[in-house]
Amino acid sequence: MKEVLIVGGSLTGLMHGIMLVRSGYNVRILEQDSGSPQSHMAGIAAAKDVLDFLKRFDQVEQPLGIPSECLQSMDRDGRVTVFLKAKRVMTSWDVLYHRLRTNFDGLASVDRAHPPGIRGVGMGNAIHDSGKQVVSMNTHEDKVSVRVRDLTTQTETSMNADLLLGADGSHSIVRRTFVPDSEIRPAYAGYVAWRGAAKESDVSLATRRIFQKNVTYFQLPGEHIIV
Ligand SMILES: Cc1cc2nc3c(=O)[nH]c(=O)nc-3n(C[C@H](O)[C@H](O)[C@H](O)COP(=O)(O)OP(=O)(O)OC[C@H]3O[C@@H](n4cnc5c(N)ncnc54)[C@H](O)[C@@H]3O)c2cc1C
Repeated sequence: MKEVLIVGGSLTGLMHGIMLVRSGYNVRILEQDSGSPQSHMAGIAAAKDVLDFLKRFDQVEQPLGIPSECLQSMDRDGRVTVFLKAKRVMTSWDVLYHRLRTNFDGLASVDRAHPPGIRGVGMGNAIHDSGKQVVSMNTHEDKVSVRVRDLTTQTETSMNADLLLGADGSHSIVRRTFVPDSEIRPAYAGYVAWRGAAKESDVSLATRRIFQKNVTYFQLPGEHIIV
C-alpha cells in the first residue's frame, strides 16, 4: 500500500500523516477548513503520549512549551494550596498544530521561519489539502474511493487510495459510513465550557507569579475553573 488519504487535518490526522510519510507512504490529508486554522487560543498539557511521539518524530529543535511544576488550588480569598508536585510541559493547541504541520509538510508558523519541509531518503510525499470536504466514500476490492467537494469552487471530484484514515473528529463521516450502527454519537454532556485567554502584559506581576508555572484549580459548587 502506497497511497493514503486522511480525512481531517487536525492533530490526529497530522500525527498519523507524519508516521506514514516517514514510513514511505504518499499521504494526502483532506481538510474542510480552508487556509490557516483559526487560533484555538487553547492551552493544553502535552502528556506522555504526545511527548513520546515528538521524541520519535519531531525534527524541529525548538522548545514545545513551558514547564509547569505544581497543581494547586486557590480559594476565594486567594489562598493557594499545592496538592500535587508534578512536572509537565504546558503548551497550546496552536503551537502543537504548527509543530506537526512543519514536520508533515513544512508549513512555516506565522512568526518564525522553520526549515521548509523535512524530507529524507525513503520518505513519501506529504500534501495538506485544505478547503476539501469529503462527502462520501466506497471500497472497491483493495481500493477505497472518496468523493471530495472543493468548498471554494463547489465542484466535486473522486480520489482513490490504498488506505483511508478517518481523523475527522467527533462528527466523523468516516465512522458514520463504515460503522453506521455505532453507539458513539455526539450528545450534550450536561455542562458548558467557557474558554478565554489574557495577554501576559495585561496581568499584574503578582498575579502572574501565582499562575505562571502552575496549573490552578478553583472548586465552586456545580462548577470549576482551570487556569
Ligand atoms: C474546548 C476544548 C478544550 C480542550 N482542551 C484540551 C486540553 O487541554 N488538552 C488536550 O490534550 N486536549 C484538549 N481538547 C481536546 C483536543 O482538542 C482534541 O482531542 C483534539 O483536537 C482532537 O483532534 P482530532 O484531530 O482527533 O479532531 P479535531 O480537532 O476535531 O479535527 C477533526 C478535523 O476534521 C475535519 N473534518 C471533519 N469532517 C470532515 C470532512 N467531512 N472532510 C474533511 N475534513 C473534515 C475538521 O474540520 C477538523 O479539522 C480540548 C477540546 C476542546 C473542544
